Order: sequence, then structure tokens, then C-alpha cells
Amino acid sequence: MTAKQSNGHTLAPIQASSLYFTPLPPTHVVPPGKESHGRYMLTIPWNRVSGWGQPKIGPRQDLTFDPLAGVLQYAVTCFEGMKCYKTDKGDLRLFRPKKNFDRLKRSAGRLGLPCEWDNDELLELFAKLMALEQPLVPSTDGSNLYIRPTLLETSEGFGIKEDAFAAEALLYVVTTLNLGLGLYPSSEGDKGIKLDACNEYIRAWPGGTGSYKLGANYGTVNISKKPGYAMSLWLHGKEDFISEAGAMNVFIIKEAPDGYLEFITMPLSNGIVLPGITRESIIELLQDHASDKQDFPLEGVPKKIRVVERDFSMPEIIKGLEDGTLKGMFGCGTGVVVVTVGEIQYQSQTYKIPSNPIIKVLRDTMTGIQRGKIDEGRSWSVQVPEWNPQGKEGEQEEHVTAA
Ligand SMILES: *Cc1c(COP(=O)(O)O)cnc(C)c1O
Repeated sequence: MTAKQSNGHTLAPIQASSLYFTPLPPTHVVPPGKESHGRYMLTIPWNRVSGWGQPKIGPRQDLTFDPLAGVLQYAVTCFEGMKCYKTDKGDLRLFRPKKNFDRLKRSAGRLGLPCEWDNDELLELFAKLMALEQPLVPSTDGSNLYIRPTLLETSEGFGIKEDAFAAEALLYVVTTLNLGLGLYPSSEGDKGIKLDACNEYIRAWPGGTGSYKLGANYGTVNISKKPGYAMSLWLHGKEDFISEAGAMNVFIIKEAPDGYLEFITMPLSNGIVLPGITRESIIELLQDHASDKQDFPLEGVPKKIRVVERDFSMPEIIKGLEDGTLKGMFGCGTGVVVVTVGEIQYQSQTYKIPSNPIIKVLRDTMTGIQRGKIDEGRSWSVQVPEWNPQGKEGEQEEHVTAA
């Protein structure tokens, strides 16, 4: 896949076969405080004249930019959050990685960053980075290697640009060990996490960037988190609609008048909600379960269920608690997988949310698929091939580009 520029030049694509690999030097020492990070990083530079440059995998190291680089001045940066899991047999798995690559393209496009590449080529490079860290990846439940692909503007982003597109960019991938402690203080057992419904800061609004994974979306709301709460529950609109919690999508479980159990989550159509891959996967599992399409059971989940994508508000939650129709609430995302919401603080009141055993079924099913224990029949779990960099690919020549 090559992208044609309007001036007739062909921009170079991301090409896995031109990988340049630098092994860790024999004298390699892990810097203090960086023990839990992967030792290697993947970098692929880009510029608007020639396109993607040579992909490199080498020791993890600091990056340098011009002080006026777009990433530093105007937060022109987007990212992805993925995990690499080790199965009981010791092989590595990624979960629906091309969904993350497509979302990174979407985020990049929103920022005027390069957003064209062949996902198969990128996946091949990814897999090599994972394969190098194979000995580090833990195999215990809840542990994995967290992957952080990042794409940012390295050229000057200062001043008004002719056409708002970056002149130079860098795509890099680093990893860090996740030893099952979780990204959030959620280890309160089945009681679930505590959320603070936040009226003070708004995470996303129509026409904004909430549905893209841009660095700026997170940096501007970090300060909203209150001590004692796992994260903020994001509200919007005068109705106090719930959009998300922290960096997770949210579902409520509600009994409908016709006896069906409804799994209600915010729709993606208003551009406020981040289109989570965990969210999408859970919707698909539930819908297939309800329609009997699925060849493995969501044991303990009734058949009379439906997924509803619509707005729901804090007042609706409070009413559901009063009349007993609210049957549970959970958040989902790569970080937490699926986590029960146990309590919400809203307008100085504390609301206890009932727990629901279905939430654990969903969590166990998702983690089972991710760790290759359950085959959902859709190839969601992607095996990482072994890679021996002593072989031919390690000898690929380094491309020297004129500065
Ligand atoms: C990443 C993210 C999610 C979850 O997306 P997954 O693809 O399921 O990991 C949800 N909300 C926000 C705001 C996010 O940044």
C-alpha cells in the first residue's frame, strides 16, 4: 500500500521487511526506576516529503525534539493502550490488535498526523517487539505486558501552519509490565470501585475530541480525581448524562418492563464516548448470546437480554435504585477489562449500586479469550510468532538519511 501525494510523489509505506534491529549491548544496565519497563522500543519516523522511514527496534531510550515541536507546544499526540498476554503454554497473544491500529489512524487523522499504513506491516513489527520481551511477560492471571503505541508531531508545531498538517512525526511503541495490581485502586473485591460523579470538569462534549485517544483529553482532566475514589464518573449536559468513567466505557444493567435485562451504554454517535474495543467486544458477545449465534455459553447470563445504546443520566440511576430496576453497573476497557461499580458519589450523596454476578461472567469470559483459554470462534486472540533476531532480519542495513 503506497499513498500518493498530490504532487505525484509516492510516500513510502511502513515496511516491516526493512526493520533495523539493535540488540541490547552486553553492558546494558536497566536505569533505576525503569525496572518494570520493556527493554526495547520500536520507532518509525515519518516526514511529509518521503513518508515513513525505516522501522527500528533497539534499546528503550529517551527521545529528543525541538523545543517548539508540536507535541510539546500543542499536545499534538495520540496513543493506544493494548496488552500482550502469555498463555499457559507460554506463547504470546494480542487482543484484536488491528482494531487499535485503526483507532490510532482515526486519532492521528484528527490531529493532522500521518494516518495511512498497512496494519499487517505494523502488526509484524509489533509482534517482533513482543517476541523480544517474551521472557519478561508474566503468565499469572491479571498480569501482562502493557503496550503503549504513541504517534506525535516532532516538527515545529508553532505558529499558523499553511495546511495544519505535521511536517514530521514519530510513531513509537514502548511496553511496561502490568503485574496484576491494576491501573486503578480497584482491589476492593466484589464490592466494586467507588466513583466520584464530576460536575466540575467536563471530559468531552459534542464536536470535541472525546471519541479520539488524544493525549490532551487525559492531561486536562487528571486533576479531577478525588482521594478515596478510583476515578471520576464523567457527566455531560444539563441532564447529567453519564459518558464514561476515568478511561473506561460504562454499562448499567436494568430490568425492562417486559422482563428483559438490558445492558445500557452511551451511544458512539454523539462523538463524546471513546469507541472502546472492550465495549464493542462485550456488546457482540451479549448480542450473540441472546440470539443463540454463539457456540460457547456465557454461563449464568439469561437469554432474555438486550443491549441498548442510548443516553442515561444520574437521575435515571437514582430512580433505578429507588424502584429496584437497576441491577448493576460496570466499567470496561483494556486496563481494567471489566470492573464492578460499587458506589457513586453525586451531589454530596453516596449511592450504593447493587452487585451482579453477570459482571464476573463477562470479566472471566473476556480474560479467558484474551489469554487464549476460550475460543470465541472469531480469531480475536492473535498469536505472536517467535522471532530470533540472530537470523537474517537482524542484519538488515541501517538506512542513513541526509539531515
Ligand atoms: C482507551 C479508553 C477506553 C477503553 O477502550 P478499550 O479499547 O476498551 O481499551 C474507554 N474510554 C476512554 C476514555 C479511553 O481512553
